[in-house]
Amino acid sequence: CGIIGIVGKEAVAERLVDGLRRMEYRGYDSAGICTVHDGTLVRRRAEGKLANLANVLAKDPADGDVGIAHTRWATHGAPTAKNAHPHATDHVALVHNGIIENFRELKAELTAAGRTLESDTDSEVVAHLVSLQVEGGASPQDAVREVLPRLRGAFALAIAFRDYPDLLIGARRGSPLVVGFGDGETYLGSDALALAQLTQRIAYLEEGDWVVVTRDGAEIYDELGDLVERPIQLSGASA
Ligand code: GLU
Repeated sequence: CGIIGIVGKEAVAERLVDGLRRMEYRGYDSAGICTVHDGTLVRRRAEGKLANLANVLAKDPADGDVGIAHTRWATHGAPTAKNAHPHATDHVALVHNGIIENFRELKAELTAAGRTLESDTDSEVVAHLVSLQVEGGASPQDAVREVLPRLRGAFALAIAFRDYPDLLIGARRGSPLVVGFGDGETYLGSDALALAQLTQRIAYLEEGDWVVVTRDGAEIYDELGDLVERPIQLSGASA
């Protein structure tokens, strides 16, 4: 439902939750965040209101300068902590808006290959598909380039990588995703409002685009994998 990602120069957990708060108006049933810290993916999730996630984080903080966060409006799988995003393997964490229509086939394929999926969502298969590529030695870019054409349906994605603490990858098809440009930081959001507290400088991804976000900025690719320019606009969404 709502997505935010930060490749930052200081701690992100609190700012991620703030970004989720700005999207509360959309409605949601659960929420979660994952940071990349000290060579691990640090994941915290909770059913229900953001206050529940904030409580989890108060007890069990998620340090780190890079992270992704999500408010979920369940389409596949009950609204439980187990089904809340981010979904993750040891290597990859991912948040997803939309519906992966062919998730049953993909799940069957992953299960046959010996992978264990934890949730009842359509989204988790994407984390595993990307993870398989990375575990096989692919770069995050090549992993995403390989997996996107296999997905049917609508998605906005934000993906974090355990072994690449300096980047996030976003992708959009059928669900909106924007890139925000800060001062030595770069952001992903499902809309400009989610990023209003962080920046007004926004590039809107076009249908089929995917993007590699680093502290220095963003490299945007179109559906064919060609590097493209998307104009940076002033969002006008007020903090
Ligand atoms: N289809 C996904 C799920 O049920 C994502 C839902 C959403 O857009 O929040 O978990």
